[in-house]
Amino acid sequence: MPKAKVLKRTCLNCEKSISGRSDKKYCSDVCKNEHHNQNTSDFAYIEKRIKKKLKANRDILKEILGQQNSCVVSMHLLVGKGYEINYMTHYKDVGKKRYYYVFDYGFCEENNGDLKIVKAFEWRE
Ligand SMILES: [Zn+2]
Repeated sequence: MPKAKVLKRTCLNCEKSISGRSDKKYCSDVCKNEHHNQNTSDFAYIEKRIKKKLKANRDILKEILGQQNSCVVSMHLLVGKGYEINYMTHYKDVGKKRYYYVFDYGFCEENNGDLKIVKAFEWRE
């Protein structure tokens, strides 16, 4: 009978070599918990930062649009207010125009480079 392969395994958290069951990933429960908490908090941090940027962008679009159905502004105005153009939630093509959304507010680029801001939300999976 062939011998079972002995693989050198190291703890995902502290990188000490580990022995025992082949599906073991950590040298101890302490390391397992530490590694898990680390990953969870990293994601929580990223999520919080991105949400903050998205919310700030949405607030800017909401403020500019006010009670109007749509309005046209320059890119300068948006950026001047602190809008971060690369943070958005989704886009939608309407005819030849592509609308970039931050949740329920969005804009598309006009032919002259200005931006048409709209409020619209259709949820489709
Ligand atoms: Zn360890």
